[in-house]
Amino acid sequence: MKKILFLLVPVFVICSCRQKVKESVAPPISELPGIVQDSIRPEVTPEAPSLDDVSDTTFIRLADYSNDFSYDLRYATANNFLKTKVYDCAECYTRSKTAKALIAANRVLKKKGYRIKFFDCYRPNSVQYRMWEIFPNPQYVANPVKGSIHNRGGAVDITLETLDGRELNMGTDFDFFGREAHHDHLEHPEEVLQNRRLLKEVMEAHGFWSIRTEWWHYNLGSASKDPVANFNWDCP
Ligand SMILES: [Zn+2]
Repeated sequence: MKKILFLLVPVFVICSCRQKVKESVAPPISELPGIVQDSIRPEVTPEAPSLDDVSDTTFIRLADYSNDFSYDLRYATANNFLKTKVYDCAECYTRSKTAKALIAANRVLKKKGYRIKFFDCYRPNSVQYRMWEIFPNPQYVANPVKGSIHNRGGAVDITLETLDGRELNMGTDFDFFGREAHHDHLEHPEEVLQNRRLLKEVMEAHGFWSIRTEWWHYNLGSASKDPVANFNWDCP
């Protein structure tokens, strides 16, 4: 089903970053402080419009624009560090500008015989609250009051696989929280270092930046100031 989500009202995000952990239990979505309330526009056309025809900050479903990606959206399963499912169903939404950069990066990777596989994409702010309730440790989960770039539609958690679906060895699993997952931990076989380097070089060439402690996480630089969003996608 093709859907376009339009961001209606820009709202200034109020940062109460110093809130204590215990105070950060998810309030009703309507009461989230300073969180943009996105709206879903009814389906108007049978086909998704070209990405050139939607604004950079519009949220889109990536699979409506490319069949060349692979998905293993872990938070829609219990196979993640929280050991519980926090999405009702697996979907990968991003802002349109993030999608354009991902499609361009994937085109380069495909020529080399690889494609991007997603572990996580846009994450509604209400889900960030849920994750914080389960695991309130800022080392592993961004404080939902401030919001993460996943909540802004500009971050993705990814790896590489071959075009016939064999995942490349990156040295650790997704969401492995230890030194072995750090970019500057070089005590891995050369094959692992090469795989990470390939992903990093291609992503950086398309406007993404990495964080030192997670080889799988990439932020689109131009999305880091976009507002935190909170729409939830429909599930069948
Ligand atoms: Zn991430």
